[in-house]
Amino acid sequence: MTLAQASIELRLPIDGRHRQMFIDGAWVGARSGLTIETRNPATGAVIATVPRGDRRDIDLAVAAARRAFDGPWSRFKPYERQVLLLRIADLFEKHWEEISRSDTTDMGMPVVRTRANRNRVIGMLRYYAGMATALHGETIENSLPGEVVSFTRKEPVGVVGAIIPWNAPTAASTWKIGPALATGCTIVLKPSEEAPLTPLLIADIMNEAGVPPGVVNIVTGTGAEAGAALAEHMGVDKIVFTGSTATGQSIVRASAGNLKRVSLELGGKSPVIVCADADLDRAVPVAAMSVFANSGQICIAGSRLFVERSIHDEFVERLAAYAKGLRIGDGIDPATEIGPLVSLRQLERVTGYLEAGTAEGATLVTGGARLTEGALAAGNFVAPTVFAGVSDEMRIAREEIFGPVISALPFDTLDEAVERANNTPYGLAAGIFTRNITTAHQLSRKIRAGSVWVNTYHAIDPAVSFGGYKMSGYGREGGAEHLDEYLNTKGVFIKID
Ligand code: NAD
Repeated sequence: MTLAQASIELRLPIDGRHRQMFIDGAWVGARSGLTIETRNPATGAVIATVPRGDRRDIDLAVAAARRAFDGPWSRFKPYERQVLLLRIADLFEKHWEEISRSDTTDMGMPVVRTRANRNRVIGMLRYYAGMATALHGETIENSLPGEVVSFTRKEPVGVVGAIIPWNAPTAASTWKIGPALATGCTIVLKPSEEAPLTPLLIADIMNEAGVPPGVVNIVTGTGAEAGAALAEHMGVDKIVFTGSTATGQSIVRASAGNLKRVSLELGGKSPVIVCADADLDRAVPVAAMSVFANSGQICIAGSRLFVERSIHDEFVERLAAYAKGLRIGDGIDPATEIGPLVSLRQLERVTGYLEAGTAEGATLVTGGARLTEGALAAGNFVAPTVFAGVSDEMRIAREEIFGPVISALPFDTLDEAVERANNTPYGLAAGIFTRNITTAHQLSRKIRAGSVWVNTYHAIDPAVSFGGYKMSGYGREGGAEHLDEYLNTKGVFIKID
């Protein structure tokens, strides 16, 4: 199918038209009248303009979210919020093809991947629908004199500001909107300026589902303007942020004005440890795609590949063969496995690391350059890359690249592998490949990261917590802990004698 044919089914503009943002249940432009262009990274074509919202638009959205929180939305019972979330999930199901194509045209994620994410995203919405009626406090025995009943109540934290990156717009939006609606919060979501279109499509779905005005607001704009204004806004009770560690730090500083609550899902430099006893037929493709999926633009990319020395050379050879076999192209083609990088800026960043790897003495096994043959020349394509002979000190082994680049590092003992794997400021995720159950348990305990996968990777479930250790952030998404991020706990004492 060509892009032009696909556009007939898309409700989003892909022909350079303007798309408004969503505040208080209405489609509006920025007060400034300014706009931002968004491009298809596979072709370089401008597919839409969106409002360049700033502080004034954030003020309007936060005020609308507050009115809804104090007004009609506060009267929604848990069951009514549940029904609404289930309706939203049904609409995601109905519109999934458009949603999935929107991520493809706006940020390059191949449709094979966006289609595969369907059950995860819709399942997540239904999970939060279930949780809406499962929120509860506790009755607690106290030691006070006389007859005093004490209990806790869980109350929505209030107006939530959500700031998301561009690498997975659908999943990131639903992972913020789902728990906000389940707990009775209202939300102002600021998408990335690199990929604002799917969140706006999701606003269409909110309208169609009958979400009351002001409960979900989507303000497009840059990080420095709309993002910073949201992070420091005195009317926002909590910020949930997914993005880079550097921006996370500035958000923590911006939150100090009203000491709003903050949860952060940040960057990573995740280790994958392949033991000599691993099932290599499984480990090779999974380790490869732990990085190459989404062209390496995944926070949990297993970009430091520690391989036991006795199998290192064979493993690297098989990994390189796998990388060479991947089909690269415009993600709208269902045969494409690897799409483009999101922007020219990201392309420059990744190719800079490719040059740094070679300059610092790593051995380039495969890839290593921008792809410019034929139609690929118009987009931001980089070949899946494997470096060997990497030392722990090299920049490609220490810094988050956010591109399709694996650094292979041999190890001799498990203790050494764990020590080197943990020797990073990040702690988002890790992978272990072994057939030995004792090794699996020991390593998964010793690795300091929020998610550890054994003989698999990328497994994420709405009921299981996800989040970072160390500079990969704090707070959790997934599971009951996730809902707690959107709730305040109030202690109530009632004297009854
Ligand atoms: P980024 O930090 O540059 O931007 C993320 C969002 O923050 C965007 O919406 C941006 O406009 C906004 N922003 C930028 N500066 C801001 C500021 N000063 N104040 C408020 N908002 C601001 O990140 P990115 O380049 O969009 O995404 C890539 C990063 O996101 C990587 O580091 C990746 O690891 C991380 N990420 C983490 C997770 C996770 O779950 N841990 C998931 C996806 C991506």
